[in-house]
Amino acid sequence: MKYKRILLKLSGEALAGEQGYGIDSKRLTQYALEVKKVVDAGVEVAIVIGGGNIFRGVDGENSGIDRVQGDYMGMLATVINAMAVQSSMESHGIYTRLMSGIRIDQVCEPFIRRRAVRHLEKGRTVIFGAGIGNPYFTTDTTASLRAIEIEADVVLKGTRVDGIYTADPEKDPTATRYAHISFEEVYAKGLNIMDMTAFTLCKENNLPIIVFDMNKAGNLFDLVSGKDVGTLVTM
Ligand code: UDP
Repeated sequence: MKYKRILLKLSGEALAGEQGYGIDSKRLTQYALEVKKVVDAGVEVAIVIGGGNIFRGVDGENSGIDRVQGDYMGMLATVINAMAVQSSMESHGIYTRLMSGIRIDQVCEPFIRRRAVRHLEKGRTVIFGAGIGNPYFTTDTTASLRAIEIEADVVLKGTRVDGIYTADPEKDPTATRYAHISFEEVYAKGLNIMDMTAFTLCKENNLPIIVFDMNKAGNLFDLVSGKDVGTLVTM
């Protein structure tokens, strides 16, 4: 395997599946099976899940919900998603631990870096819920930060498209995929991979990112084993 320890970022919207809201049980199963393939191959897996299928702090402002309050609601939404993913993974025989950025002791462990690393070393898949635990951040930033903290080899950003393209492949049939692109080129071309805080954190800590299609069966395994899948972003 090319990568020994990975951090996989999944958006909340991905969990909603075709129905476009809530949590789709088919998606949960699909993702659990994809992750199981790499876990069974001995790869250490950490996962960060978004909450956009349930709540985003910025959206709350339109309905009179204070931004900070809304962001905490968003963080709790990620915990709901993380609990669903945890259950699904466990039902497929993956050992997991859910660690939260805010204390919810009856539901999951608090995030403690050394403990997270120990879980990974023991072969448990660690799911990070509640973002970094602070308002005004995103789960993309959480993915970058946690990946750096646990010394992951790479951040894998699972999306609907297989990497970064020269143009929007859903609109322009001549668009081609970049197999590799540098952090500087991403800035220069104004490409939107992650929010800038998350992206810059990766750049400043020399942490590679791979953008790839999580919905294509076998893609995660192929990527982790070193095949040309998605777009690799490095220095
Ligand atoms: N959030 C936050 N701090 C964090 C992570 C998340 O305040 O460290 C809140 C924020 O309101 C965000 C919401 O949780 O909009 C859900 O996360 P995100 O939008 O990143 O989810 P995704 O777009 O990946 O589904």
